[in-house]
Amino acid sequence: MRFVSGFKCIVCGKTSEPPKSAGTCPACGDPFSILNIEFDLARVAKSMTREALANRPLNHWRYHELLPIEPDEVAFAWPVGWTPIVETPRLAEWAGVMNLRVKDDGRNPTSSFKDRASSVGVLHAMQRKATRIACASTGNAASSCAGYAAMAGMPATIFVPLRAPEPKVAQLLIYGADVRRVRGTYAQAYDLCSRECDANGWYNRNCAINPYLVEGKKTCGLEIAEQTAGREPDWVVVSVGDGCTVAGIAKGLIEMHALGFIARVPRVLGVQAAGMDPIVRAFEGDGELPKDVMGSTIADSIDVAVPRNWRKALRYVKETKGAFVRVTDEEITEAMKAAGRLAGVFAEPAAAAAIAGVKRAAADGMIGKHEDALAVVTGNGLKDIKTAISIAGQPTEVEP
Ligand SMILES: *Cc1c(COP(=O)(O)O)cnc(C)c1O
Repeated sequence: MRFVSGFKCIVCGKTSEPPKSAGTCPACGDPFSILNIEFDLARVAKSMTREALANRPLNHWRYHELLPIEPDEVAFAWPVGWTPIVETPRLAEWAGVMNLRVKDDGRNPTSSFKDRASSVGVLHAMQRKATRIACASTGNAASSCAGYAAMAGMPATIFVPLRAPEPKVAQLLIYGADVRRVRGTYAQAYDLCSRECDANGWYNRNCAINPYLVEGKKTCGLEIAEQTAGREPDWVVVSVGDGCTVAGIAKGLIEMHALGFIARVPRVLGVQAAGMDPIVRAFEGDGELPKDVMGSTIADSIDVAVPRNWRKALRYVKETKGAFVRVTDEEITEAMKAAGRLAGVFAEPAAAAAIAGVKRAAADGMIGKHEDALAVVTGNGLKDIKTAISIAGQPTEVEP
């Protein structure tokens, strides 16, 4: 980790030793005292130049100076990232913004954004000589973790809540993971995973409290900066569950600005489901996480009542002068249909939430009529066929 300058607690500000895998601040003991990895950007700038990048492979390892891992030739050939950004003029008109681009992260190897974090997590676990990697997830983090563990040849144990969609569970089983279906909620699966990791010495991939993983999610922001340089969007819009994705993307944009790749930092808009909106409430309220949030959403990947990384999400979004909005399940399903029909993009509900968020923010006057937005589609629609079919209807049956 040649370019890492420190691990700093986002609550008390104290720096600490690098944790083995997941871990909160040892000094302040707050359950949400996530560590933040800081980089020596002056040194990164000397190595990660435009010229150097021009000669690197088109995957997210091209930014290895900004990742908390050692270079590894074999792992750096694992495919991940550098997903396309597509212009979607008809979807822009539907959303009520002047211009809308979509970065389709559903095109990652296991079909979700989580591959950015899992690839870094599995590589970090290997470099820490871990014998097994474990994670608890509503689905995508799990299937992604299992996929990269399989690429690397590392055993994986995955805890999923009862309501994880079948396609995601199918992925786990095909990738050969040891799958434990927990008779309970995501929060309960999460706690069980943490206990098992502590008891058995497994590598804990749980992104929210594993500071290394958020840095993997950051590469989406790094890519957006490099891919749109000179024509950066005014807003980057992304859905929010635990908050790691939105925090990572914002951090990536901020670092690329500090390194001189982009002239200004796009504002980051985090989108939550109206039925599960603790971070929006914290943003609108006193900056504290509301307790005992009840509710639910069809967007299973962002159905998170206790978002572990809410502080990092708030902090980085505010640093970009961004905001948070909520969208209803109905707005999400409308956005899912619109993305498919008007842009040829098949998004799972949590991913469509970002597109619904663009429309909501435009209607509320948060995104101006003459502004330019980029929505990140974080997961492919085939991840949740049941919802897709329930909103799209059945084909017309005809005689041969
Ligand atoms: C995990 C996930 C998110 C949200 O990421 P967090 O880091 O939990 O905020 C959004 N969309 C999809 C498809 C996801 O899998």
